[in-house]
Amino acid sequence: MTLVSDETMVISKEILDKALWRYNNSRLHVLTSESGLHSDIYLNTDIIVSDPETLDKIIKDYFLPELSKRNIKPDWVVSYPPFGLAIAYSLAKACKARFGYVDLKEKICNFEIRDTEKVIVVADDIYSGDSIRKTIEILAKKGVKVIPPILTLGSFSGIWKIIEREVVYAITNKGNLFPEKECPMCKAGSRAVLPRPNWDELIRNESLDNSD
Ligand SMILES: [Zn+2]
Repeated sequence: MTLVSDETMVISKEILDKALWRYNNSRLHVLTSESGLHSDIYLNTDIIVSDPETLDKIIKDYFLPELSKRNIKPDWVVSYPPFGLAIAYSLAKACKARFGYVDLKEKICNFEIRDTEKVIVVADDIYSGDSIRKTIEILAKKGVKVIPPILTLGSFSGIWKIIEREVVYAITNKGNLFPEKECPMCKAGSRAVLPRPNWDELIRNESLDNSD
């Protein structure tokens, strides 16, 4: 079973080992803050974006070719805070576009984007796809149409399209999301935690068997 296909090898194994957690009969598992669902896989994109050189390399080796393959020269690269911002900024810089973001809570975008301009949306990762859906809708309210593809560092949902737009990702593996009541990991005695505040403990991946 391969985790990463050949074309995504721009991300080194060393970084993936540090940034990607998978459930393995683990004492802890992930409560995704976006959807509230429990997940058996998690990509901590902080580990990737905290290394600007790695991020630039992913942009250059993976995202730019995806755009040029489709003949897309965006005027704007838009994301939502906090985790997508570094990726959007880095991509905007690389393709000489402008950089903006939406406020998901207030459902607004304060950037002066004209309805004639080409806008693409990027995100750090996709679990439920809700935040990206909301971002597209906030922009649509301004009369701004987001053009495909949606670019993301990681996707674990098996979602290939969001509101008719193709999703392109740098890292993927099929994960599983469960509502708390149906979560087999909870049933096995594993505890669901928010991944980023508990990252050190989570990535240690202590097994349920070793706990008393
Ligand atoms: Zn659970």
